[in-house]
Amino acid sequence: MTNRLKNKRALVTAAAQGIGESIARAFSAEGASVLAVDINTEKLSELTGPGITTATLDVTDESALKKFVDEHEAFDILVNCAGYVANGSILNCSNEDWDFSFALNVKSMFQVSKHVLPGMVEKNKGAIVNIGSICAHAGLPNRFAYGTTKAALVGLTKSIAADFIGNNIRCNVIHPGTVQSPSLDDRIAAFDDPVAARKAFIARQPMGRLGTAEEIAAAAVYLASDESVFTTGVDIKIDGGMSI
Ligand code: NAD
Repeated sequence: MTNRLKNKRALVTAAAQGIGESIARAFSAEGASVLAVDINTEKLSELTGPGITTATLDVTDESALKKFVDEHEAFDILVNCAGYVANGSILNCSNEDWDFSFALNVKSMFQVSKHVLPGMVEKNKGAIVNIGSICAHAGLPNRFAYGTTKAALVGLTKSIAADFIGNNIRCNVIHPGTVQSPSLDDRIAAFDDPVAARKAFIARQPMGRLGTAEEIAAAAVYLASDESVFTTGVDIKIDGGMSI
């Protein structure tokens, strides 16, 4: 199938690398016009393709965000992808880790959605796709703040889905398992024994391998397209069987 997102305008956050980048590329391949944003301007400059434009945007900066949305035409699709993994249990979770995790993983999705939604309401259509994590469902060791924030996205997603169902706007969340990405490489490199750490990340995946960003992007294309018009308020686990 091609052109599954033809004539749709998409905003994708955290699009310079990893899952966000793959989603921007998959949307472009399906004919969407994609505005890809990130704070990493240099990395973002490598993201090119049909219909892709890029802009530097910090999704935690509400005034910049509001100005940015006001300056652009309404979107048909919003992908909220920005997120950060704070390592540790409740006992070594600092207030700073907690606050930053909520600011980036939850509040930014609240703010971006809040500013983008009025344009969708005006168009009487829209699809929001949030990127959560399997940590929302599966308790994983040393993911206290991260798992808490990602579980909050289930409530955020379902609330938006319920409030805007009459406006033809759908809101769904994807929960990836462990996915190969630059930030996963960084997390692995931070271990004393990175080789053993990578093996442990793979071992917790029942399929015996990491997921790919493209596999998550495929679900995002489906949820953003009209193929999923009967689907809202759903959390989809793309986790290689982690939650079985
Ligand atoms: P990543 O962590 O490698 O990249 C994240 C991107 O977000 C970077 O380009 C970074 O510059 C950008 N970013 C950070 N703060 C930002 C801000 N304030 N404003 C705009 N952009 C910002 O990518 P990833 O590992 O693919 O993770 C993407 C999403 O997927 C996150 O929400 C993450 O929690 C989720 N996720 C990832 C995995 C995984 O194993 N990689 C698993 C489950 C969920």
